[in-house]
Amino acid sequence: MNALAILVAAGRGERMGMDRPKAFLALGGEPLLLRAARAFEASPRVIGLVAVVPAGEVGHASALLEPLRKGRAVGPGGDRRQDSVREGMKQAPPGFDGVVLVHDAARPFAEPALIEAVIDAASAHGAALPLLPVVDTIKRVEGNRVAETIDRRPLFGAQTPQGFRFDLLSRAYDRAREDAVTLTDEAMAVERIGGMVAAVAGSPRNQKITTPDDL
Ligand code: C5P
Repeated sequence: MNALAILVAAGRGERMGMDRPKAFLALGGEPLLLRAARAFEASPRVIGLVAVVPAGEVGHASALLEPLRKGRAVGPGGDRRQDSVREGMKQAPPGFDGVVLVHDAARPFAEPALIEAVIDAASAHGAALPLLPVVDTIKRVEGNRVAETIDRRPLFGAQTPQGFRFDLLSRAYDRAREDAVTLTDEAMAVERIGGMVAAVAGSPRNQKITTPDDL
């Protein structure tokens, strides 16, 4: 199946503590949003890109993505991540029935091989995401007291791009809206309606830039 990439960049990036939205900060001389977009530009099955950005940054983001050759749309996001993704889905070509890839613009190091693996798994199973095993020992803490140590063996950290057949993600989001649920990633919408979400091996290089230390 072909894929459409939605780059979500509409968050305030409060943990970054800068005066500009995170996706517009430069890393090695190039804004995170453009870096993130380049991997999708290089993936042959990605037919287009949609960038969802803060409402006041649409013009800025369009100019910034000018170097890309692939078809793209830039539009404003919403209050929550899931609202931003929904806005991005509205920019899909009419009748699009391929895979939608939702990717954090704050992950500038996704590689085309990972993108291909997610498209393959989402085409086969309906939904897929890259996961990395948790490496730290995980504690549950109450106040300033450690309550217990959690068995980390079944725990994984979720990365993006997360891939979905377009109709499946639409239905899953409709249900989340009906049920007034706030989602922390897209796969959660599919999990909660009982859909199969396939696990793809994530990449340790596919880091999310969250704080100034990460930059
Ligand atoms: O806050 P967090 O790091 O989980 O955000 C992940 C991604 O979701 C970021 O790229 C952020 O810009 C995006 N986001 C969004 N719209 C929101 C909130 C977050 O596009 N309302």
